[in-house]
Amino acid sequence: MDKTLPSSAAYVVVGAGMHGMSTAWHLAMALEKTGRGKGSDVVLLDKTGPGAGATGVACGCVRNFYMTEPLHAILRHSVDVWQSDPVNFGFQQVGYVSVGEANQEADYVKIGESQNAADYPSDVYVGKEAKSFLKSLWPDFNTDKTDVVIHEHPSGYAGTHAAVRGLKEKCDQWGVRSYFGVEVQGYDMTGRKVDAVRTSQGDIKADCVVVAPGAWLPFHWEWLGHGDKIDMRYSDGHVEKDRDMWTFWRLLEGEVYLNGDAYRTPDDKDPPVLHVELMDTPVITEDGREFPDLHFYTYLRYAAERVGAPGIQGGTIPIKIGPKAAVEPYGHASDLYQADDWFADYYCATLSFLMDRFKGCRANFKDRRNGGIGAFTPDNVPIFDWVADNAYMIADSNHGYKMMGVGKLVANHLTSGQPVEELSPFGLARYAQGQTFGDRNSNCPWV
Ligand SMILES: Cc1cc2nc3c(=O)[nH]c(=O)nc-3n(C[C@H](O)[C@H](O)[C@H](O)COP(=O)(O)OP(=O)(O)OC[C@H]3O[C@@H](n4cnc5c(N)ncnc54)[C@H](O)[C@@H]3O)c2cc1C
Repeated sequence: MDKTLPSSAAYVVVGAGMHGMSTAWHLAMALEKTGRGKGSDVVLLDKTGPGAGATGVACGCVRNFYMTEPLHAILRHSVDVWQSDPVNFGFQQVGYVSVGEANQEADYVKIGESQNAADYPSDVYVGKEAKSFLKSLWPDFNTDKTDVVIHEHPSGYAGTHAAVRGLKEKCDQWGVRSYFGVEVQGYDMTGRKVDAVRTSQGDIKADCVVVAPGAWLPFHWEWLGHGDKIDMRYSDGHVEKDRDMWTFWRLLEGEVYLNGDAYRTPDDKDPPVLHVELMDTPVITEDGREFPDLHFYTYLRYAAERVGAPGIQGGTIPIKIGPKAAVEPYGHASDLYQADDWFADYYCATLSFLMDRFKGCRANFKDRRNGGIGAFTPDNVPIFDWVADNAYMIADSNHGYKMMGVGKLVANHLTSGQPVEELSPFGLARYAQGQTFGDRNSNCPWV
């Protein structure tokens, strides 16, 4: 294939992560299927290659546990896409279980109702039922502190390597023209319209640009002429002025080996992804050391892919960096943003508190590079919207590996020219119009 960058294209997609690749693939499919164009009308650019950003290092959890209710429909579309080719995407539909204390009961009930209304089946268990449900999956689960549980049936996890390969393959199959090692360095604009995408290998005139550069988004935002502060109006009328448009957080994750097939359900199945937040419970290591400033927040999923042997992968609440961060080198290559020294002790303490099978697991913590950073939006909820007359931005606020369906919805919007109901709550106008999201009962920015 000719690897000379074209001088123009109908669609230029910037970033070959989850969203760029899913959008490019769905755009190409829509153009081919409707006869309104060809897959080759779509040009996909990445300065490095597929999965070079957060998509390549994500934990891979696919769940729908959000207090931001409009996300529930986004996840339903996303699981549809994951399930359209689970083998090639590495998607394991094992379900998802989240566990909380009594202070979260009302939230769980509300989330469950909204998920089911969005056609995303889940069950909520409270009190004794919650405890016995957990014991049915993990007989050695310590249920002392657990009062409420949600079980999402369609959720699961997907290994990042398989998903990246699978998405790249879909793009190729539908004729997307991909160019890697090509860095976007700016946008030539007339007023609010992008005329050309400026790259390290020349300019590409574009009818439409999809901006999906993950943690690099703040640079593209500035190149597109936007400021770094924003006023946020909430539904109760109060306004928070001059808030940072983008805030970087760094993620803390790790892996623990297990002996043989120690992480299975009693009926020998891969267990659901597990997530536990106990806001009133301290974390204490097996030898009695407490983390005074931290509460219990942990997640885990089976992960042979990452550790190359039976094991689990997971993490805890990310740590805020601020409006500026050193994005390069990214992910595991960064010396600045690896999990802190305390993380292994903390994480293993949460595991051994939860299940007897994890007692002593600190010795099996895999000492390796981990983590990555993300650019979060002002309310920590995605922004999917036009950022120039012909440039559409996918800013997932760093919780969107799971959101494979966003590309499908965006492609639908771009090719039909019609509003897509599921995307509309995530517009930029929400900040000015008093619809800033703010429903939180968690210390984590992802809820
Ligand atoms: C450690 C970690 C664990 C995570 N775990 C989960 C999880 O379990 N579940 C979940 O749902 N989410 C998870 N996330 C979040 C999720 O990975 C991201 O939200 C998602 O992958 C972002 O996808 P993206 O396509 O927007 O960006 P990215 O995957 O970052 O892709 C952006 C691409 O754009 C390219 N790019 C950037 N700038 C330019 C430029 N100027 N020119 C050309 N190319 C450019 C980059 O090279 C990159 O390949 C995790 C994130 C991290 C860091």
